[in-house]
Amino acid sequence: MAQAPHNFDVLISGGGLVGLTLALALDQGGLKVAVIDRLPAADLLEETFDGRATAMGFATYRMMQSLGVASHIGEVQPIEQILVSDGRISSPSRKGGPSSLTLHFDHRETGAGDEPLGWMIENRRIRLALDKEAATRSGITRFAPDEIDDLRIDTGQVTARLKSGKILTAPVIVGAEGRGSYVRKKAGIRTYGWAYDQTGIVTTVAMENSHQGVAHEYFLPTGPFAILPLMHHRANIVWSEKTSRAKALLAMSRPDLEQELARRFGDFLGAVKLDAPVWSYPLSMELAATWAKPRVALAGDAAHGIHPIAGQGLNLGLKDVAALAEVLVEARGLGQDLGDLAVLERYAQWRRTDTMTLAISCDAFVRLFSNDIAPVRALRTLGLGIVDAIGPARRFFASHAGGAVGDLPRLLRGERLGANA
Ligand SMILES: Cc1cc2nc3c(=O)[nH]c(=O)nc-3n(C[C@H](O)[C@H](O)[C@H](O)COP(=O)(O)OP(=O)(O)OC[C@H]3O[C@@H](n4cnc5c(N)ncnc54)[C@H](O)[C@@H]3O)c2cc1C
Repeated sequence: MAQAPHNFDVLISGGGLVGLTLALALDQGGLKVAVIDRLPAADLLEETFDGRATAMGFATYRMMQSLGVASHIGEVQPIEQILVSDGRISSPSRKGGPSSLTLHFDHRETGAGDEPLGWMIENRRIRLALDKEAATRSGITRFAPDEIDDLRIDTGQVTARLKSGKILTAPVIVGAEGRGSYVRKKAGIRTYGWAYDQTGIVTTVAMENSHQGVAHEYFLPTGPFAILPLMHHRANIVWSEKTSRAKALLAMSRPDLEQELARRFGDFLGAVKLDAPVWSYPLSMELAATWAKPRVALAGDAAHGIHPIAGQGLNLGLKDVAALAEVLVEARGLGQDLGDLAVLERYAQWRRTDTMTLAISCDAFVRLFSNDIAPVRALRTLGLGIVDAIGPARRFFASHAGGAVGDLPRLLRGERLGANA
């Protein structure tokens, strides 16, 4: 016998960092939400799930506060300064570490008062906090482990049949399943992009000396190398290498890998020891041709996967959440159909310029900095020097890093949304 459908205001396929944050925001606005994830919630909360930590900009962190998530996260490491340098690996005459030519961003230049540039938070802690908060919300129903087996997009509603046999309906569905988005494919939305022939090696290290809240990014000839401060004299490392070289590094013993790390760090942070397993991610750019179709919206990596060079991928996804939730809650208040293309296009237009600017800039930076060609090196050294010397240019980049650029949705201003505020 066919099961009776469960009716919702919004279906979210993918309950990762973006999908679950969106569910919380929509619930705060009084909407009834279903979140479907193919993995059991317990797997996503495992310490070994992924080694990533996020440099969350001050604006996106404000949203976590407004949604009641920040209080569950616990200790977070403020980022006081970012130092970008055209670094070199050590040689007999030089000891690694940041080069003398650095571009320097300071939180006092963003105009955001006492807020730091951002906060370093281990992704596992964010997932745990989202999970804890979602469990308190009666408007959120989670289906996991489960996934959509068949999706029908009709004139008046979407109908999702899950692998478990359950049937869910709503006026709109959001694809938030990351880069391989099922909803995106089902809606016939194409993607554009390319692979970088780089692999991101991710781990956490413990250091002898204090990092003093400074995030370092060295542009090395084979790819960017980021040292991102964590609590307790630790740092998350995002080390982009040519894929062939990364394979060799990943095959090394831990002591040999520590030596390779030390060559890149230099000695200004004292001895460096691995403090976690080592993960790796193939790096690519993947942009969806559109983020809105009738009854379908995309958010997070399902809409735009970018290189981690600027640590902005999740921040972009969280900004999507703030804009999409505001548009849908407003539409409900006005009695509009949530799946109407005119409603969903308002969201897509709101996010397009910021996302495209960032995606194109990240791509340009990867190409400009991942090489050792002398004239290009001279040009970028000049470029870094010029930006560093001009206060407004520095402030522009610092505000971008904090995520506070353009017409900010209410959640990114630290306000609450709608009925359950
Ligand atoms: C090395 C590295 C470092 C990074 N560092 C930063 C940083 O410092 N700052 C930052 O802002 N960003 C960073 N990013 C980017 C960030 O990790 C991603 O942008 C972010 O994880 C995207 O979140 P998401 O929820 O959109 O997708 P995902 O994290 O991919 O989550 C997708 C969810 O959907 C589920 N799913 C998948 N398919 C289906 C399906 N068919 N049905 C149901 N569920 C499904 C998955 O189980 C998962 O839970 C980094 C990325 C990399 C690779």
